[in-house]
Amino acid sequence: MARYTGSTCRICRREGDALFLKGMRCYTDKCAVKKRNQIPGQHGSGRMNKKHTGYEVQLRAKQRCRKQYGLLERQFKLYYEKANRQAGNTGVNLLHLLETRLDNVVYRMGFGISRSQSRMWVTQAHFEVNGKPVNIPSYAVKTGDVVSLKEKSSLRKPLKDQMQATASREKAPWLDVDRENLKGRFVSMPERSQLDQKIQESLIIEFYSR
Ligand code: SF4
Repeated sequence: MARYTGSTCRICRREGDALFLKGMRCYTDKCAVKKRNQIPGQHGSGRMNKKHTGYEVQLRAKQRCRKQYGLLERQFKLYYEKANRQAGNTGVNLLHLLETRLDNVVYRMGFGISRSQSRMWVTQAHFEVNGKPVNIPSYAVKTGDVVSLKEKSSLRKPLKDQMQATASREKAPWLDVDRENLKGRFVSMPERSQLDQKIQESLIIEFYSR
């Protein structure tokens, strides 16, 4: 499947916000958004000051969220359509679908330094859900599921070292993580207030409802 192979920091600069796509560097002063928060390209500074139309605002809200979770347009649209078919608030449904992806859960538990690293490790079959190996990043984790590193995974040692680096990262209160044994339980669906307040799901819905 086609994947973006350009500069990761360029994505954040385009959205004008740190999306934490790269790992520990994102928490340091080396972060490209902290150093130079400007849209990439020759006319980037001019485009930043430009007045945006309603469509552009909706597009940027959608792109920001899609890139934050590292999804392609087609995948993201499928999530929107699924959220729209479900009962309840479409925006919250969408965020729940994104949050329950296995690669995201691995990242939120602090096992991966970024969502892309978590996705790679899931694909390489390092993780289990309820004791069964799962190597599908989009696998939907359910309430009560236990995600753990495989007993014989070669990541056991490096991941423990890395977890010391991710210890300061904001905790996800809907996850119960056993850092010592490298496993965690998805206790409940997160409340909207517990998720990124910068995501504007109403604009995403407006974008797809045009
Ligand atoms: Fe984004 Fe991280 Fe790069 Fe900063 S360091 S611009 S947060 S990917």
